[in-house]
Amino acid sequence: MRTLRELGVLFALLLPLGACQSSDKVPDKGKRPELKSSNPTVRGRRPCVHCHQNIDGSYVVYNKKQFHKECYLRVAPRCGICQRSIFGSATTLGERYNYHTPCFSRSPRCDACSLPTEGSRGGVTKLSDGRKHCGECQGTAINTLNDARSLFSTALLELHRNLDIDLRSVPIELKLADRASMSKLADFKAPIVKGFTVAERKDVKIGGRFYQGPWKITIWVLKSLPREAVIGVMVHELFHVWQVQNCPTQSPPLREGSANYAQWRVLKKRQQMLWAALIEMDPDPVYGGGFRRFQSWLQKDEAWGAALAKLRQMKDLPASN
Ligand SMILES: [Zn+2]
Ligand SMILES: [Zn+2]
Ligand SMILES: [Zn+2]
Ligand SMILES: [Zn+2]
Repeated sequence: MRTLRELGVLFALLLPLGACQSSDKVPDKGKRPELKSSNPTVRGRRPCVHCHQNIDGSYVVYNKKQFHKECYLRVAPRCGICQRSIFGSATTLGERYNYHTPCFSRSPRCDACSLPTEGSRGGVTKLSDGRKHCGECQGTAINTLNDARSLFSTALLELHRNLDIDLRSVPIELKLADRASMSKLADFKAPIVKGFTVAERKDVKIGGRFYQGPWKITIWVLKSLPREAVIGVMVHELFHVWQVQNCPTQSPPLREGSANYAQWRVLKKRQQMLWAALIEMDPDPVYGGGFRRFQSWLQKDEAWGAALAKLRQMKDLPASN
């Protein structure tokens, strides 16, 4: 006869998602057009890349190309808030999102995408838990477990297709929770926790010997996140499930950096450049730093399949990266 005794040994990995977890991250400041004066001693006149006429006097350098100021203003990126051409200090996120720095600083920021809620993002919606969402994010907010479940199938499929990890037959419970419950359950100090995974395994005693019982895995996702962000969070958390089964004792930068990489790769494949850019520029040393170090480690490797095999044995990222 078998006696089963639950030891209550709990192996709980609390793996909260870091990327874009807080609202105070400022996208890159960069790509400022500079106004310069042409140097008359330089041989040959410099043609404007827009009108192809030579430039006399002052010119604008933008993306390392030279323009007449009027020509630049015709092709200049426009501010996502006031819609006017950007000349002077700019704040940008990826290729598509450009703002005058003063406009950017004045507008409330979306807690999901971190962009200003004003202007092209369609205004602000205040959620009952204190979060602020832009119109774009609120437009695809996932509020029911049913909707989340269908996205979970998509996330499992994307993980299989893009990262060669098939978890479709692993029993995983999916839960949606509000902001306060997420923070409490994850026990992680962040203003907003978007996702985390709990993997528990209890030892069982069979005939006087202890055996490891099966994993009980739960993925928690924050309620009301926009659709594509939810898929990203799910891919990240599913990558943690793979880690639990294959390499459960990695350093936080390797664990989070590689999970962020999986998330980033799926988001890129789905053409979700905004959500991918947020991972690329995440200033957090574990999440963003881990992602960048993981990516440069990966570039030295020949293929994803080989990298995945190495990842099983790795405890940390190489220090030289
Ligand atoms: Zn994580
Ligand atoms: Zn010109
Ligand atoms: Zn503006
Ligand atoms: Zn948003």
